[in-house]
Amino acid sequence: MLPRFDLYEPKTIAEACALKKEHNGRILAGGTDVVIDMHGGKEFPVIIDIKGIEELETITEDENTITFGALTRHRTIEESVFFKKYYSALWDGCSQVGSVQIRHRGTLGGNICNAVPSADSIGPLQVFDAVCTVASPEGDREVALKDFFIGPKKTILGPDEILKSITIQKLKARSGSCYIKYGRRKAMDLALCGISCMIELDENDTIVKSRWSLTTAAPTSIRNYPPEEYLTGRNIKDVDLDELGKLAVKDAKPRSSWRSSAEFRIALLDEMAKRAYQNALSRALEAKTAPPLMSEETGFNVF
Ligand SMILES: Cc1cc2nc3c(=O)[nH]c(=O)nc-3n(C[C@H](O)[C@H](O)[C@H](O)COP(=O)(O)OP(=O)(O)OC[C@H]3O[C@@H](n4cnc5c(N)ncnc54)[C@H](O)[C@@H]3O)c2cc1C
Repeated sequence: MLPRFDLYEPKTIAEACALKKEHNGRILAGGTDVVIDMHGGKEFPVIIDIKGIEELETITEDENTITFGALTRHRTIEESVFFKKYYSALWDGCSQVGSVQIRHRGTLGGNICNAVPSADSIGPLQVFDAVCTVASPEGDREVALKDFFIGPKKTILGPDEILKSITIQKLKARSGSCYIKYGRRKAMDLALCGISCMIELDENDTIVKSRWSLTTAAPTSIRNYPPEEYLTGRNIKDVDLDELGKLAVKDAKPRSSWRSSAEFRIALLDEMAKRAYQNALSRALEAKTAPPLMSEETGFNVF
């Protein structure tokens, strides 16, 4: 039996923000974290179900960016040929969340706001320089995803704020990305550790931009700067994979738990960094042109 709660179903963002503040209410998106918490005995006297707010479900684009409404489901990304081909790290992450059923319910916004270090979409979003739009009755504000967390399960959201959308930067030609998750099983397992990267090459195979992120390697998902600094400006023929692996774990501070020792996670991340780089590199070498507009791509079924 779930503990007793009052349920509100706002139809606008403003209404949701006001209810959250008035009742110190718990936002419910897909519920795949919230309902599990409730089954575990956590009491949320007021639940605010935001699934009826259509504005939170859209995916839009302009020349430079793609914006995901907070209610974008992992399964929507997984089923998209467009994201698989062009924003592979995000596809890699979303398609490894839980199971098909969980991915049908679970949202990007919920994955981010739950703020656990093992969230599979956060690292991939970070390598596309994601920025969160946070809504409150005073209006919207933007916060880089890398600055959204203040600790495990803690975000910068204020009492009257909800996450409205997440915006990523569009990739250029000769860009590729990858997320690798290490879990003990192929499904229904949280990341023991994970690593995301994005690289962009110029016409001479010099890396002009690189972004990295670590999953389950610190109290929150973190941007990973040492490999970015090592790769940027370096020609691919001068990349030493052993050096890259060492740098990729320099800032990692995983904890030892019943699931794995910190030392094992570090050893995994060292190897996974090399593989993630090689995957991203081969994707970049194949990407002769910049990704087209989503609306131009067949097989894209989100609008
Ligand atoms: C069996 C199982 C397996 C799982 N496996 C994985 C996995 O492999 N990888 C992984 O990353 N996760 C996994 N999860 C966790 C979960 O599915 C994801 O975190 C999912 O993305 C949560 O999204 P949701 O919409 O269901 O969030 P909800 O449960 O609705 O919400 C999660 C939290 O975010 C808050 N919230 C949600 N949306 C907003 C918003 N727009 N603004 C403000 N606050 C908001 C809620 O109040 C709550 O605190 C698993 C869960 C289960 C039950």
